[in-house]
Amino acid sequence: MHFVEAKGILSAANGINIYRGCTHGCIYCDSRSSCYNMDHAFEDIEVKINAPQLLDKKLASKRKKCMIGTGSMCDPYLPAEKELKLTQQCLDIIEKHGFGAAVLTKSDLILRDIDILASINEQSKAVVQITMTTFDEELCRIVEPNVCTTKRRFEALMEMKKRNIPTVVWLSPFLPYINDNEENLAGLLEYCAEAEVKGVVCFGIGLTLRNGNREYYYSALDKHFHGLSDIYRREYGNSYEIVSRNNKKLMSILNEFCDKHNMISDINKCFSYLNDYPDKYEQLSFF
Ligand code: SF4
Repeated sequence: MHFVEAKGILSAANGINIYRGCTHGCIYCDSRSSCYNMDHAFEDIEVKINAPQLLDKKLASKRKKCMIGTGSMCDPYLPAEKELKLTQQCLDIIEKHGFGAAVLTKSDLILRDIDILASINEQSKAVVQITMTTFDEELCRIVEPNVCTTKRRFEALMEMKKRNIPTVVWLSPFLPYINDNEENLAGLLEYCAEAEVKGVVCFGIGLTLRNGNREYYYSALDKHFHGLSDIYRREYGNSYEIVSRNNKKLMSILNEFCDKHNMISDINKCFSYLNDYPDKYEQLSFF
């Protein structure tokens, strides 16, 4: 881990990334791809130590309230966050300035900040997004080795439900010959229904591979799934999009299930839901 003083923190799309790099160890991680030009080892987390101060200044001068997102490029609840508490401070600042928050993570450490999230949600809107890929707990420990397993993430969703904090689940990626099967999808969808999530984000049954993450993924396959990397090379070559043979069938199961349980499965509608800042705060501050 190393520390930097960042120049800016809020992207044009109102997203923040407090950390760069990740230690959760997901074997399929796209953020490892060479195109992101990371100038340090992926596990050597870059910490933007002045992120809260930058965000405070930025939000103080921002005229229109909106949702502030975090978690798209790296997890805001890395183990390092336990001590550093930068994500927590940023949430406090979001709350102080009356903005909304949309947080994406795989870690149950988010439960530490549940009171702040509940308060943001009462004031305007907070949405907790959790990624779940693998229902089988043993398999989950192989594909996402350094973060809590899916069952614990489901428990975190249930805690959010108790506090009326809306949730969205990212069902992504599905790894051909590993978790791209009906049994896995059914288990994950049952978790979503029980937690009464607002929606699921699923771009299709498959994953993306490009230089950097492909090599890492194949070496993990060689370690844990003997012979599978050869099958991938044969079937997919150097393709960026790796689409499962079960894509059509599983997507139709997913869409049907979501319709039946009142969960948004349309990607655009899901992103609209995540980005929409409710006008209730604007109205309150007007009066
Ligand atoms: S949590 Fe996200 S950023 Fe971290 S290793 Fe997994 S996929 Fe990559």
